[in-house]
Amino acid sequence: MRKIFCLRCNKEMKCIAREKLQLGQTGWILGDLPNLLAGALDAEIFTCSQCGKIEFYLPENSENDVPQVQCPECGNKHDFDYPRCPICKYDYK
Ligand SMILES: [Zn+2]
Ligand SMILES: [Zn+2]
Repeated sequence: MRKIFCLRCNKEMKCIAREKLQLGQTGWILGDLPNLLAGALDAEIFTCSQCGKIEFYLPENSENDVPQVQCPECGNKHDFDYPRCPICKYDYK
């Protein structure tokens, strides 16, 4: 379990729950994450016992389910959000 410290009090925050957030209903919490895709998202909820602050974090070991694409040049698969193939540098433009 990683350690998270409160930004205000510098006190170690405690993980109180790990939940699946249903995107769409609770999307406001994580609204500025760039990769909000449809579906549920695992989140760990930490609180600071000193000031009561609550923070949501993505679990460290959360599965990376970024869609994969296959490079037409070299045939290797990689995350869809590369502007170029990371293996052969094929340019998707
Ligand atoms: Zn605090
Ligand atoms: Zn390639």
